[in-house]
Amino acid sequence: MDFFPIFLKLNDQTCLVVGGGDVGLRKARLLRAAGAHVTVVSPELSPAMAAYVAAEGLHHRAEPYSPRCLDGMRLVYAATDDEAVNQAVYRDCEARGILINAVDQPEICRFITPSIVDRSPVIIAASTGGAVPVLARHLRARLETLIPAGYGDMARIAGEFRLAVKAALPDTTSRRLFWEELLSGPFAERAMNGQADAARALAQQALDAADAATLTKGEVFLVGAGPGDPDLLTFRALRLMQMADVVLYDNLVSDAILDLTRRDADRIYVGKKRADHAVPQDDLNLLLVKLAQEGKKVLRLKGGDPFIFGRGGEELETLAEYGIPFQVVPGITSAAGASCYAGIPLTHRDYAQGVTFVTGHRREGEQTLDWTKLTNPCETLVVYMGITQAPSIAAELVANGRRADTPVAIIEKATTPQQKVHVGTLGTLGEVIATAGIKPPALLIIGDVVKLHGKLAWRG
Ligand code: SAH
Repeated sequence: MDFFPIFLKLNDQTCLVVGGGDVGLRKARLLRAAGAHVTVVSPELSPAMAAYVAAEGLHHRAEPYSPRCLDGMRLVYAATDDEAVNQAVYRDCEARGILINAVDQPEICRFITPSIVDRSPVIIAASTGGAVPVLARHLRARLETLIPAGYGDMARIAGEFRLAVKAALPDTTSRRLFWEELLSGPFAERAMNGQADAARALAQQALDAADAATLTKGEVFLVGAGPGDPDLLTFRALRLMQMADVVLYDNLVSDAILDLTRRDADRIYVGKKRADHAVPQDDLNLLLVKLAQEGKKVLRLKGGDPFIFGRGGEELETLAEYGIPFQVVPGITSAAGASCYAGIPLTHRDYAQGVTFVTGHRREGEQTLDWTKLTNPCETLVVYMGITQAPSIAAELVANGRRADTPVAIIEKATTPQQKVHVGTLGTLGEVIATAGIKPPALLIIGDVVKLHGKLAWRG
């Protein structure tokens, strides 16, 4: 972080704008919006600045800048077109510990002015650290469209209940959960749509019913995190990720996704590279139970979809046995992610009328797949966890009648910036794997649909 974001209370504080032109005027307006007393120092004022100074009754010192102008100032904008003057203002402010911004000269700024979305009392500030201010403005434009105009009203109405909620729910956890529930329900709808009285009634009702014991009851969220690209999370996944007290994740969950979980949540890595189970499955199931029994909201984040080769079902069975409440959120399974991001439709009227997902990984002593059922040339086969076994899988398929020239794609790290697609055939698969140096996670797509990759690849 090159700049530390804070919000300053400038109400009734004296601030200085050095410069009487239109740039200074913009800063004077901003300061006035925050309730500051503004002094403008400049021998002359532009007509617009002169009009503003008169209309707002600002203090104008009609003289060149000198250090004594800084007396009593909390914050200063240097907005002249003379760099030497701006430099001098910066030097003097630094010497006296006054916050200084020289407009468009990030190297002589102690603070910078962000792009602001104002839904008072909600204020959102975005900055690129002075590097690309236009980008911050783009972001602001997006936020403006994203955040309903009524957001401020909602914050105000909710604020009216703050002290009552604090009195009814003295511990911070139950209070946080109360607000999370209230703000994601009909209260928010009403408050943002101008139905203030209805919103107040709902808040009061929720407050009357609020009970710390129910609010802080433990629960497990089994959430599919998708194949890697954080953009592929569902809204529901994101919401539950923000509510978690503790997160259990494995190596299929990318850092970019973990960063979207609640900042205060504890994170527990529960492993799972092949043959390296950081926490064995049985212990993991019981850990989920234990954490929920302690009253925690437990987020079990899984790569892809939790019910596709994810052992999510086993984890839930244990929870059900112990009577722990849970919710399950589907995720985009890696076959779907890889298919779309590699431009290989899993079905296509000309090439495949069906698709089968199988795993190449077998438990000790487990029956192998019935390969005779997987040789239909009109069907696509997706193999999860199949890279190590790929040569023998290819051999089985060919031995059972699938053509050796059937195209195969190996997609590694699908949907992430490191995604790679290698194409071969069942006949050449062993060779491709031996030479390509495939990095996990990766999956195989087998079938004529792979021919479309050349035409439809949009991500490499
Ligand atoms: N529940 C997961 C699958 C877990 S099994 C899902 O729905 O996707 C783990 C296997 O998934 C890996 O061995 C690999 O075959 C596949 N996989 C997971 N993420 C992947 C990714 N980003 N790219 C390619 N394959 C992936």
